[in-house]
Amino acid sequence: AAKQAGGARTARFDESLRAEQSERTRIAAGLRQALADGTLFMHYQPVVDAATGRATGVEALMRWRRDGELVPPGVFIPVAEQTGLIGAIGTRALWLACGQAAAWHREHGIYLTVNVSTHQLRDPGFTATVLEILADTGLPAAALVLEITESVLIDAADTPVLGELRANGIRIAIDDFGTGYSSLAYLHALPVDILKIDQSFIRRHQDPPRPQDVSLTRAILELARSQDLLAVAEGVETPGQAELLRDLGCPLAQGYHFGRPADADTIDTLMREHTLKAAV
Ligand code: C2E
Ligand code: MG
Ligand code: MG
Ligand code: MG
Repeated sequence: AAKQAGGARTARFDESLRAEQSERTRIAAGLRQALADGTLFMHYQPVVDAATGRATGVEALMRWRRDGELVPPGVFIPVAEQTGLIGAIGTRALWLACGQAAAWHREHGIYLTVNVSTHQLRDPGFTATVLEILADTGLPAAALVLEITESVLIDAADTPVLGELRANGIRIAIDDFGTGYSSLAYLHALPVDILKIDQSFIRRHQDPPRPQDVSLTRAILELARSQDLLAVAEGVETPGQAELLRDLGCPLAQGYHFGRPADADTIDTLMREHTLKAAV
């Protein structure tokens, strides 16, 4: 009976693997089509000065509408990475985001931050691609940040690409900090400028905050400061969390409390209103 049950389990397992495989194939085909017909687009989320709440930057986040529904990047980015489509998709993201952000930088001094994958960093031509996009869109290198998740950064730390990008004035951010491993041992050796504290550390702050959560966030902020890294708190959702981060001296913050990711027109309107308010 045990053997039979095991057999049934194996069959179910095979079946779910097959279903997963065919969903991946379907997503990959959809992405190829989307690259051709231009249905990949970007949303932008403000990165604000934690002390004042004013936008200092925007993070570009890719969006894909398939049959009228938004497919989350958490679903299609991994497929793009597994199939190698991430090269073309990542380049598309950079073109779209730099093209949009060049005007925001000119008018409002806003910087742009874009997520990149390990495949892109492994491409020896990546620096040249980025520089070409900057030249064509008019976004200055100093206004561009590339975000790389902690675990990827650790395995890409040996590629010359990171050093080349930084030598050209482009900054590198370590994304989702605290979710990878070996973070402390490697941090001093990583070629980075900005540290983005993962949402999981921010989300734990209740109202009123618990001392052990506060000291954890304070320790990460001190770590960033000691390594000369600019810290950004991700996933700030409540006024209490925003206030706490401000009190702890966190320089920058991002999250639903300050603004959800939105299309370029919405962000454009927001920035104009802010600029007008500042001018009065
Ligand atoms: P990420 O770079 O860490 O981006 C932050 C994610 O958190 C975004 O999810 C954003 O919408 C979400 N978020 C922002 N504020 C809050 C908040 O207050 N609460 C909560 N619960 N969530 C918040 P999104 O847009 O679904 O993107 C997920 C991930 O997909 C990104 O995580 C990034 O790793 C990846 N991704 C997105 N666009 C690109 C891209 O163009 N290229 C690459 N390689 N990866 C991308
Ligand atoms: Mg990011
Ligand atoms: Mg993140
Ligand atoms: Mg992430």
